[in-house]
Amino acid sequence: MERRRKMTGKATSESYSELVHDIGQLMLKAQRLAEEHGLFLNHRELMECRHCGLMEDVTSEGKLIVYRAGLDGVDTGLRFPEPDEDSMSSCPGCGALVKLEEEKDEIM
Ligand SMILES: [Zn+2]
Repeated sequence: MERRRKMTGKATSESYSELVHDIGQLMLKAQRLAEEHGLFLNHRELMECRHCGLMEDVTSEGKLIVYRAGLDGVDTGLRFPEPDEDSMSSCPGCGALVKLEEEKDEIM
């Protein structure tokens, strides 16, 4: 395999942005795989319907479940649709609009 970068010990901004790009691609791939397996990656806050008490939780295995208040850990099999860019989703149980309480992440 051809070595494209000289090992001078000094990272150029070009190789750095290549690295960031590669990591980004890997993370996207990992996220797709995890979603296929029903895993939750903490990429957003969990949703909760204040109308009917349906809420999301993550099991110790990292799986996303949706349960009703009072029935902790019993997966209803329902799933909240991924929120749109305004952090709005709808409850799969009663259809009420659910606003995702999002904490602002500092992006470096
Ligand atoms: Zn609801």
